[in-house]
Amino acid sequence: MASDLNIFQQPSPNFGIRRGGVIPSMIVLHYTAMKSSKDAIQRLSDPKSEVSAHYLIDEAGKVTQLVDEQKRAWHAGQGCWGEINDINSYSIGIELDYCPSAKCNFDERQISSLEKLLFDILKRRSEIRPEFIIAHSDMAPGRKFDPGMYFPWKKLSQKGLSIWPENILDLAADWGKFKYHAERFGYRASCDTFGGWTDVLDVFRLRFLPKQEGKLSPVDMGVITYLSNNWPNIRNND
Ligand SMILES: [Zn+2]
Repeated sequence: MASDLNIFQQPSPNFGIRRGGVIPSMIVLHYTAMKSSKDAIQRLSDPKSEVSAHYLIDEAGKVTQLVDEQKRAWHAGQGCWGEINDINSYSIGIELDYCPSAKCNFDERQISSLEKLLFDILKRRSEIRPEFIIAHSDMAPGRKFDPGMYFPWKKLSQKGLSIWPENILDLAADWGKFKYHAERFGYRASCDTFGGWTDVLDVFRLRFLPKQEGKLSPVDMGVITYLSNNWPNIRNND
């Protein structure tokens, strides 16, 4: 355990067994979209809500653990990433106390605690590589949008806690190639229609090109190709 990271324990009853006894190989990052961390902890611990997460980090950086990492918390819901459909069994869920309608940038104290927690988890769990730390939106295009456009993925990547595309070349816009590279990286459309793939484009941009709008463009192509070539979603431990 990182010496300067205090983790407060507040067990939630909302968890189950990881199906098939799998070892988590992913981390899913969320925002709570609630008024306060107190409200969020209450909801994540209410049996009626049937939701939870392993950790919650409040704005000031306080880390609360609600579910043991060995257990299956209920944070991901419907969706998939690469070949994995049961994201809850394969992942550790971290909630950030953050309300997108109330603010833009995340509090530095909150991100600092998140970095310490991620360092600690990655040190203990070699199955989790930086490219397997994903957004809730990544695994549920069209349904989820957290942790949102202000989450500092690039900053995390500079510490080996995420990935980020560099020196991107523009490439010709081509939906067939976009789908190929998006799937190779890990994205799955909820349905194989133009709408389903537009949802994938939207969540991909939310994370990697938050200012990009309009139709599929050469910069989208450059980034998705870079991601797919550098981090193809290939697992050897499943
Ligand atoms: Zn979420």
